[in-house]
Amino acid sequence: MTPPATTRKRRVRAGHITPGRHIVQFSGGIGSFGAAVRVAERYGTDRLTLLIADTGIEDQDLWRFAEDTGRLLDVPLTRVRDGRTPWEVFHDKKFLGNDRLAPCSQVLKQIPCRRWMETHADPADTLVYIGIEDTPRDRARIPAIARNWAPWQTRFPLCGRREETLTKDQLLNEARALGVEPPRLYGLGFKHNNCAGMCVRAGQRQWLHLLDVMPERYAEAEAEEEGLRSRLGNVSILRDRRGGTTRPLPLRELRARARAEGGRRRAS
Ligand code: SF4
Repeated sequence: MTPPATTRKRRVRAGHITPGRHIVQFSGGIGSFGAAVRVAERYGTDRLTLLIADTGIEDQDLWRFAEDTGRLLDVPLTRVRDGRTPWEVFHDKKFLGNDRLAPCSQVLKQIPCRRWMETHADPADTLVYIGIEDTPRDRARIPAIARNWAPWQTRFPLCGRREETLTKDQLLNEARALGVEPPRLYGLGFKHNNCAGMCVRAGQRQWLHLLDVMPERYAEAEAEEEGLRSRLGNVSILRDRRGGTTRPLPLRELRARARAEGGRRRAS
């Protein structure tokens, strides 16, 4: 049974300490929050690090959530940064990221985090924790994630638990019960709290949702994509698979199509 929130708050601050270093790959998502709380409960926070990579385009509320989590655990955030945004990386690489290949993740997250680890964390006594959720799709990612982190050993505190599998809603409620308001993107209907809802790995559904709830942010991404298209040719984040063929689907076209379909629905 889950202990009451006040007991849990005490436990995450004063848990049992074991030798070694515990690095939570803190993405600002609710899964990484759940992982951090469980590591703190089990090992205490003396040798706990919340390692977070700044992509330069995160939602402002991600940083509020990350700071609140740091205060809850009494662990300051360790923030690493390449200095570029995903859009700048795409310009530099002459390649627009998409759902098949997103170099921004490697350049802005993996490389800065690894660089920090190489300087501060000995693989011989360090564990890295990743808060992926316990779904078949996420579990399938574990071997590749573990390979990417080698030589550091990885742990996935939300997967394969003996207790019940935690849903995203349960994790969000857990944060509230511990006095940390979840990131606002979840409340706005996004599944992930990354790159302010503009992740190039997201599909059409998320981009249409972004157009609905944050049109100014969609316009920002559309302008960035147009800038890259003017340099790189007919590239796009999304693909259109209608009619049995696959072709680039720029955000500008997706927006025009959504507006036209919305207009037709209103007229009928
Ligand atoms: S969240 Fe998406 S857009 Fe942001 S760095 Fe990762 S893959 Fe790139």
